Amino acid sequence: MHTTRDAFRRVALIGNPNTGKTTLFNALTGLSQRVGNYPGVTVERKSGRLSSGAEIIDLPGTYSLAPKSPDELVVLKALLGEIPDEPVPDALVLIVDASHLSRNLYLVTQALEIGIPAVLALNMTDVAEKSGWKIDVAGLSRELGVPVVPIVASRGDGLDTLIGAIDALPIENPTPSSTMVPEFHAALDAAASRVSERFGAHEFLVRRALIDQGGSTEASLASRHGRAFIDALAHERTSLTQGGRSLAWREAQARYGWIHRISSTLATREARPKSATDRIDAVITHRVAGLAIFVAIMTLVFMTIFRYAAPLMDLIDGSFAALSGWVSNAFAGSTLGGGLIESLLVDGVIAGVGGVLIFLPQILLLFVFIAILEDCGYMARAAFLMDRLLRTCGLSGHSFIPMLSSFACAIPGVLAARSIRSTSDRLVTILVAPLMSCSARIPVYAIMIAAFIPATTMLGFLSLPGLVFASMYFLGIVVAIPVAWILRRTIARGEASTFVMELPPYRMPRVRGVSLRVWHAGRSFVVRAGTIIFAMSILIWAAGTFPRSSDVREQAEAARVQAEQTLEGESLEEELSAIDRRTATELLERSALGRLGHAIEPAVEPLGWDWKIGTAAVAAFPAREVLVSTLNILYGLEDDEETGLVERLRGETFDDGSRRFGIPAALSIMVFIALCAQCASTLAVMAREAGSWKWAVFAFVYMTGLAWIGAFVTYRLASLAGL
Ligand code: GDP
Ligand code: MG
Repeated sequence: MHTTRDAFRRVALIGNPNTGKTTLFNALTGLSQRVGNYPGVTVERKSGRLSSGAEIIDLPGTYSLAPKSPDELVVLKALLGEIPDEPVPDALVLIVDASHLSRNLYLVTQALEIGIPAVLALNMTDVAEKSGWKIDVAGLSRELGVPVVPIVASRGDGLDTLIGAIDALPIENPTPSSTMVPEFHAALDAAASRVSERFGAHEFLVRRALIDQGGSTEASLASRHGRAFIDALAHERTSLTQGGRSLAWREAQARYGWIHRISSTLATREARPKSATDRIDAVITHRVAGLAIFVAIMTLVFMTIFRYAAPLMDLIDGSFAALSGWVSNAFAGSTLGGGLIESLLVDGVIAGVGGVLIFLPQILLLFVFIAILEDCGYMARAAFLMDRLLRTCGLSGHSFIPMLSSFACAIPGVLAARSIRSTSDRLVTILVAPLMSCSARIPVYAIMIAAFIPATTMLGFLSLPGLVFASMYFLGIVVAIPVAWILRRTIARGEASTFVMELPPYRMPRVRGVSLRVWHAGRSFVVRAGTIIFAMSILIWAAGTFPRSSDVREQAEAARVQAEQTLEGESLEEELSAIDRRTATELLERSALGRLGHAIEPAVEPLGWDWKIGTAAVAAFPAREVLVSTLNILYGLEDDEETGLVERLRGETFDDGSRRFGIPAALSIMVFIALCAQCASTLAVMAREAGSWKWAVFAFVYMTGLAWIGAFVTYRLASLAGL
């Protein structure tokens, strides 16, 4: 068919994210923009008019034409005319960031193979020049076979030349070229054309589907052409992948090989003296030294928190003790002194909520450190470093920020996973994020450490409690790695996405940014204590108080009467308080909570726990802090004396009088809390973000199973080691 100049109507703008695409689009179209949506997907469609009258479409930014997200699939479909009412574009403007030419050319080599006339807009030439790049524009144009126009989109430099180059493009499509990487293409093209003829599918799409096994293109074509299509692809793949390597791997090798060959001569960089930042980064992101620095920084942070939070905690603890003393006194003179209301306030609310609020200083301190590390630019380096580590388990640096956020709380962590483009990466990140130690675990760790871990110092500065505290945090990370690895090979297959990130310059942390972060963390902790922990405390108090066995109370009354008749003076006092203690213990054992505790005792005994710890752990399923609240409430109901939780835990004995708990039980409780899925809100958010309740159920089952096994193994090993 003969086409005329008038047929030249539609131009598509494509490029990697952050290459200045939107800036260029705005500069080219001015006020003529229209924003809408592509049919069926929530991907924005932006179009406008060039001065020549042609329509230009700003496609979503993408790193390659191997679609991993709906955005990227839209780009591919738009380029191939596979979207209803969107004809194939007549011309492409490929925009690249000249200061990152090699990385940007990957998409260019793929897009040129579609065979639409194209212009390369070499953007950010100002930045490239500043960092010492010299680019041979004519040579680049020769190698790529398209016009190359250097521009600075943000200043409008070179735009007239660019428009001229677009207008001068030929109307007729050149033959699709696969010439850049012929060694890769020869066999692949034959296979793709066989499949595409048989099913009437676009050959380029078939080629992508062959390469990107399990990707969006394959899924999209399979939903149209059915099972037979998948079988045909699989059949072709078997012969193509003889010799082992996946097609995706070979494609990347071939393209990067070609890019490297041409860019090593066409884009050269003057040796620039290494800046201080470069030298620091070389150490901090080093695969061995960097990791050691990361572990050292984190350990130091946890040790500092553990040490300096103590005085503040004592202060809060003291105020709550004073408060309960005051409440008890207020009731002492009143006729309401029947005890129930006093007990509800002192043993229920103050013990439950106060017992958790004590840990506010530790949470605030942790966030001061995290916010400072983030603000000064260190966390970006850590993400870069973690990319390598995460890659070994099939994830990438994209997962680092969600995981890091999960140290505050898994909910923002799971939400942050939205930024991950690959669906399988995202799912795995959501499933392992709750393994990171959130601030709700701090109260449990702190109590167990204070009660059972001796405060010794090693090598003069490593405090044992601080080390144990830090190791609970590392435990979550260390367990997440094999879990992710297994998930990646079973229920969430697919290749890890590439992670590209600019390292921001180092700078002084700003007071405002840091304090904001700390304020948010502190506020949400206090709000939780005032709402969910408050409500749970009342429930647990009620379950530990009712039903009030009248048998026990009658017996107690009888014992008192008898004691008063037979004894007097100091021995009477002693006997009476012994009766009170016995009665309280028996009432507790016969309450709803006591019965539940005894029922689950067989399940927790292998972990070295008694029924009270078991009950507290079960009560903590809606929210972890409740473990501490429950213990406070249980011990408070049982004992009127003002003994702190730490002393009470240490004072628990077996029937023969020997100590009930030691380091093995403390470690087993901490490991359980570290690994268990004890948070109703997180599970609800996981279900929503992963798109199905079955993922929340899955996470609950695997984490709870891991927690029990982990606690069991810890208890046995620690007991064997004689700790
Ligand atoms: P997009 O993600 O590709 O749409 O990129 P944007 O158009 O949003 O641009 C990203 C950033 O780069 C913005 O801050 C722009 O102001 C800036 N930018 C765009 N083009 C240039 C350029 O040629 N030189 C410089 N120095 N900055 C640019
Ligand atoms: Mg943009």
